[in-house]
Amino acid sequence: VLDGDNVIIKSAETLWGKNTEESMDFLKEKEGKTIHSLLIGPAGENLVNYAAIMNDASRAFGRGGVGSVMGSKNLKAIVVKNGKKKTEIHNSERLKNLTQSARDKIKVVPITRSALPRFGTSGLVNIINELGMFPINNFQKGYDERAENLSGESIRNELLQKDEGCFACPIRCGRLTKAGNMEGKGPEYESVWALGANLGIYDLTIVAQANYLCNKMGLDTISCGGTIACAMELQQNGLLKSEMLKFGNKENLKEIIIKIAKREDIGDELAEGAKQLAEKYQSPETAIHVKGMELPAYDPRGAMGHALGYATSNRGGDHLTGYLAAMEIFAAPKKINRFNVGGKSDLLVLKQNSKVIEDSMGVCAFAGWALGLDFYARFLTAITNVDYSVASLIQRGNKIYNMERLFSIKAGMKKEQDTLPKRFLDEPLKEGFSKDKVVPIERMLEEYYNVRKWDENGIPKSSLLKDLEINIENYE
Ligand code: SF4
Repeated sequence: VLDGDNVIIKSAETLWGKNTEESMDFLKEKEGKTIHSLLIGPAGENLVNYAAIMNDASRAFGRGGVGSVMGSKNLKAIVVKNGKKKTEIHNSERLKNLTQSARDKIKVVPITRSALPRFGTSGLVNIINELGMFPINNFQKGYDERAENLSGESIRNELLQKDEGCFACPIRCGRLTKAGNMEGKGPEYESVWALGANLGIYDLTIVAQANYLCNKMGLDTISCGGTIACAMELQQNGLLKSEMLKFGNKENLKEIIIKIAKREDIGDELAEGAKQLAEKYQSPETAIHVKGMELPAYDPRGAMGHALGYATSNRGGDHLTGYLAAMEIFAAPKKINRFNVGGKSDLLVLKQNSKVIEDSMGVCAFAGWALGLDFYARFLTAITNVDYSVASLIQRGNKIYNMERLFSIKAGMKKEQDTLPKRFLDEPLKEGFSKDKVVPIERMLEEYYNVRKWDENGIPKSSLLKDLEINIENYE
């Protein structure tokens, strides 16, 4: 517990085993109603490979299994209360003006002005489905007309209780919803896909309930759905015998999620993630992952730059770091042909270097639809009195990206892992507006490595490290 200036370590014995909502209720009762927390659910306690850390039991630090890191240290929750310190601002008048300009810009750009506030991230469902790149049944197809049942429009019509937003956010893309006898936050685009269409399930009530349950258990919805989808394809191919794990089986979905979080029965195998599961059943190509992390809800055969972003993301199957889909699909800030292969590495590297700066600043990715590094440089200068520019931020982003890369290489990552599942390299989709395409990843990687100034093995060259003032000895 962080209580003002004091740090107090308290026993979590009575909390251990409780889900995230029960834990938050308990902590509010003990520590006060105004507390905030980061905590884990049963999935983190049981070291599920894709356990999340939940913020106030509703928003997830979802990806990469960070919940298990807390669980491995027997750390159930970090609670903050009675914080009274203010952040020192160098030029508060300037910051106030910049904040107003940022708000004005957010109110002009259509995605932040109306699409996100009205439909949340699930407003993407119909768009991505129409483009034929909404993954169905573990990425075996890219379109299904029933996807509309899971859309932001359907959520608004059928489940919405009220719109919500994070602290002081003018976009307010969040929502409180009610599905049957359950209530909760979301579901987000990635979650309706991962727990819905990718499992062949189009019942919005069941999918929303599965999403609430993942939040309660402290599970990343993308990896949870990706692993169940992998199990369902293994079942489809006769490799895994389980009636529960059939595409389209909505009856047992919630039961499976609980089994995963508690590592019970088949849930213990699924708790390891898609890669380990598919390897166990001697069908590694069935796992749709990059570097061990399950892929999100954009079929890479429908957007080649986005595909390259998956293959080269430092944390594996991640859509956020190199979100070239913004240009390839939404023409933001400019349109590029989604199927073109060459010439996208410069843009991708710029995106990746910018995104790590946003992450380092703690800026929401969705603000990026309206704002950019020019705004963020001015914000930082107003707050710190250090002169920041777009160029200096990009240089820092480049440094961070390369430091992450060197860390991964030191941890054993190889060039061979800068790739995509075999399905995307030689199996074109058979229908829809992304049909007949595969990703020529080797060709794209060569260009990308050149732009990054990495050698043919994907290792940053010494001249680059010198430019970026990175000491290689720290990574040997
Ligand atoms: S901060 Fe981001 S996630 Fe939170 S409500 Fe605003 S746009 Fe949505």
